[in-house]
Amino acid sequence: MDFSMTEEQKKLQLKARDFALKEILPVTRFFDEHDQMPVFLVKKAHAAGLINLSIPKEYGGQGLGLMDEAIVVEEIAAADPAMGTSIFGNTLGEEPLMMSENEAAKRKYLPELVKEPKIVSFATSEPMMGSDVAGIRCLAKKDGDDYVLNGTKYWITNAGYADYCSVFATEDPALKHKGIVALFVDMRSSGITIGEHIPKMGQRPSNTVAIKFKDCRVPAANVLAGPGKGFALGMKTFSRTRPIIGSFAVGAARSAMEFAIDYVKKRRAFGQPLGDFQNTQFRIAEMYQKVETARLLTYKSAWEADTGKDPTITASLTKFYATEAAYEVAYQALQLFAGYGYTKFFPIEKLLRDLRVLTIYEGTSEVQRIVVSRYAMDGYKPVMPALEDLPTLWSSKAPDVAAVEGLDAEQTVWRCRICGAVYYGNEPPEECGYCRFPKSAFKKVWPKA
Ligand SMILES: Cc1cc2nc3c(=O)[nH]c(=O)nc-3n(C[C@H](O)[C@H](O)[C@H](O)COP(=O)(O)OP(=O)(O)OC[C@H]3O[C@@H](n4cnc5c(N)ncnc54)[C@H](O)[C@@H]3O)c2cc1C
Repeated sequence: MDFSMTEEQKKLQLKARDFALKEILPVTRFFDEHDQMPVFLVKKAHAAGLINLSIPKEYGGQGLGLMDEAIVVEEIAAADPAMGTSIFGNTLGEEPLMMSENEAAKRKYLPELVKEPKIVSFATSEPMMGSDVAGIRCLAKKDGDDYVLNGTKYWITNAGYADYCSVFATEDPALKHKGIVALFVDMRSSGITIGEHIPKMGQRPSNTVAIKFKDCRVPAANVLAGPGKGFALGMKTFSRTRPIIGSFAVGAARSAMEFAIDYVKKRRAFGQPLGDFQNTQFRIAEMYQKVETARLLTYKSAWEADTGKDPTITASLTKFYATEAAYEVAYQALQLFAGYGYTKFFPIEKLLRDLRVLTIYEGTSEVQRIVVSRYAMDGYKPVMPALEDLPTLWSSKAPDVAAVEGLDAEQTVWRCRICGAVYYGNEPPEECGYCRFPKSAFKKVWPKA
């Protein structure tokens, strides 16, 4: 196990940090106030080689991993989580193309995305549906080998400026996940109209709009996954992008923490700096703990993806832990700033607004809990025996210490499956002395069969 970064990763981190501090940080408040996306920054990030990092080398890309992406995104999000969304939104849009089996589409589009600062969006959500991806209603009807799209996608990041969009639609809503297809749509196609920029609480420098499709024809060559495979492609995409939402959270929380540390060292109350109160110090320690823990989970899920393991569970863990932890960090930072934290003169209120959405998009915290609880309860292999098989020799009724010491002693131990009571003897009692269930409630737990 090695927690250190490679020399290349350290250089990449410095490059991203430099870009974030010089290009993004000075303009972030301006674009927040104007509720407008600085498209030029996405283009600059492309020119700086900080976008589309994981396009494989065989298509002209840098062929970097998710860990590299996590390192870069933390730096961008630390300056402005909204720019993190807009810059990383491209990767979200490209992932279905990169993971599809449509080699011709990859050869056609991926080199172009490396060369030119094209914007790619990703669309599963609709006005009536977000979490329940199998409930997509936007229709993709087959016409010859092509598909014809009809319906509306909602909340689509960057779509007001997008050149392409990975669209998930259905052949028939009744087929649920089995009907979903994934299409790489050229946004210049006829039959596409874009809604007005949706006004939001935070992430205002990130463009979020609806896309309406009316008889929009998508050629067969742009099918990324046919019916029965589109849903799985969408889920595989999330397994690779949820770790990066962890990076958004780490970056934003890290900045809230750093600003809070700076503030409490200078602001005084009752004749001393706020930082001298133990209450403040403990809060800072908890912020630091959350930032570090969130980063460790983020790196672990990215590492799993980069080493060919299935990152799905750790990605979901990362998503809901890191995003909720980040909200807590920013909330506590604002509390330390108190009145000044509530103003627009300091960056905390913006960080808090911006990172609020992190528990919502790319699968809400509740959806992540569904994924993890399903695994914990059905997929995860426990080490401990089932409770009714627990070979405990503790009991006030154990005959003597020797019986407990010598697990191989000739002792027969019975356990009541209802209340857990333990009995010694060749036969179980006629009924349990504690819960009064009959003899049949007893199971032999020692010696093991
Ligand atoms: C700024 C922003 C950018 C976005 N960008 C994109 C994008 O680029 N592309 C895209 O496709 N989408 C995008 N989205 C949409 C986002 O992914 C959805 O908002 C999200 O998936 C939640 O869907 P919903 O809002 O429809 O909530 P709903 O699905 O209606 O859920 C409402 C509430 O019910 C809970 N809930 C739902 N089902 C269950 C359940 N089974 N058990 C327990 N609780 C449940 C949810 O967790 C939530 O709390 C974006 C959203 C925002 C706000």
